[in-house]
Amino acid sequence: MASELVSSQVVDSALRSALTQFEAAADRLGLDPGLRAVLRAPKRELIVNFPVEMDDGHIEVFTGYRVQHNLARGPAKGGIRYHPRVSLDEVRALAMWMTWKCAVVRLPYGGAKGGVVCDPKRLSQRELERLTRRYATEISPLIGPDSDIPAPDVNTGPQTMAWIMDTYSMHHGYSIPAVVTGKPLSIGGSEGRPEATGRGVTYCVREAARRLDIPLQGARVAIQGFGNVAEYAARLLHAQGARIIAVSDSRGGAFAPNGLNPADVARFKQETGSVVGAPHSRRISNAELLELECEVLVPAALESVITEENAPRVRARIVAEGANGPTTPEADRILHERGVLVVPDILCNAGGVTVSYFEWVQDRDAFFWTAEEIYSRLERVMVSAFADVWRMSEQHGVDLRLAALMLAVSRVAEATLTRGIYP
Ligand code: GLU
Repeated sequence: MASELVSSQVVDSALRSALTQFEAAADRLGLDPGLRAVLRAPKRELIVNFPVEMDDGHIEVFTGYRVQHNLARGPAKGGIRYHPRVSLDEVRALAMWMTWKCAVVRLPYGGAKGGVVCDPKRLSQRELERLTRRYATEISPLIGPDSDIPAPDVNTGPQTMAWIMDTYSMHHGYSIPAVVTGKPLSIGGSEGRPEATGRGVTYCVREAARRLDIPLQGARVAIQGFGNVAEYAARLLHAQGARIIAVSDSRGGAFAPNGLNPADVARFKQETGSVVGAPHSRRISNAELLELECEVLVPAALESVITEENAPRVRARIVAEGANGPTTPEADRILHERGVLVVPDILCNAGGVTVSYFEWVQDRDAFFWTAEEIYSRLERVMVSAFADVWRMSEQHGVDLRLAALMLAVSRVAEATLTRGIYP
């Protein structure tokens, strides 16, 4: 059950990272103490304990969370993760990052996150369905197409979203596709949503590499993870001529200095359940993967994997954060001093929520766009957000993370001041 990607401090350290990052941006912006207190605190937190009947007939009680961090700029938006180490603090951190992420790419949303403490690898499909439907019911006071719109995250996907959409719709007596995004196409999902986060990461890598004069053709890319974000980032970067020298999962990594073919790795994982042992690769650990000599490192698994301890040994020129919160504030400082360019999560992985927004807009219009329309609109959003963050970083002489946070926090602060404090 213990995953190699998680350490025991992960949970608390995510919230510590999120708050430290926020304070740094607030300091730099000279944010007034009252406003700072408003933006720091999660607006709503729901904890639910609920029973699920397991396949053998016994009952288990699971704990789930839904946290809405901030709603100043629109309805709450953010994924739901299933993981044994989910905690309220972790969900709080992830919800805060969603607020900033939506603001960086100018989506009219606030931030939220949800999670259920469970090990999905030990649950059958039927058990996962019952757990999901009951969790959706438990958090139904919060979620809705105008209030809070969940999406996939770690260990959840289109099928999970289909069950939530169906459960919510059954309660109302008619179909409400816009209550979740990341749905299958057959029930109001969007073209391009499954690969959207990976595609957004690819645009950010391209923009960063261009500014550092690193050709993507032949560039060595090490990717931690092989879930939704990592796999699509690997496939798309490979298609652009980059060399994917390593990928990993919770059991370890596969390293091939001459490059892996992500499609072959996906097939191998499908057959064996892991990327470890993929053809023509050597087994490495997740820790070793982060220290490989490469042009681009993409942490695309869980939080707090690049720390004060290993940051001095990171040998990438660009770190493109596919995961949320993979780098601790201490590691950030070390990487910055060592001249490693970090493209921060709230910019780098915003492609997912951007296409979620497109899906929500399409559902509300009941009018659907082509894949080409999705891709070109996504590219426009990502490239212009990247340019905004780059400009901010040059103007203020700060790294890209602080620049992105300053942009985001100032947009949410402005919305809050414009609305005024009720009553
Ligand atoms: N879970 C993804 C994220 O962390 C997507 C959220 C969404 O689409 O709402 O950005």
